[in-house]
Amino acid sequence: MKVSSVPDRCCGSGVCVEIAPEVFDLDDDGFVQVLAEAPAPEHESATRDAATRCPTMAIVVDD
Ligand code: SF4
Repeated sequence: MKVSSVPDRCCGSGVCVEIAPEVFDLDDDGFVQVLAEAPAPEHESATRDAATRCPTMAIVVDD
C-alpha cells in the first residue's frame, strides 16, 4: 500500500489523525502530513478507514 495526500483539499479536520495516528499527523499549519507513505500491514485497515472518512477526500490510497 502507498498513501499520499492532496494538501490543497485538506481542511484540517484531524479525522485521519484520530483514526490512524501512526500514519497521519497535522503540520504546523494544521494540515495533513503523511508520516508513513508505505504503512505497516497492521495499519493498512485504519489507513483505508481514514481515507474513506476524510470529509474532503484528501487522502489517496494505492494498492
Ligand atoms: S481527515 Fe482529511 S481533511 Fe481532515 S485532516 Fe485528514 S486529510 Fe485533512
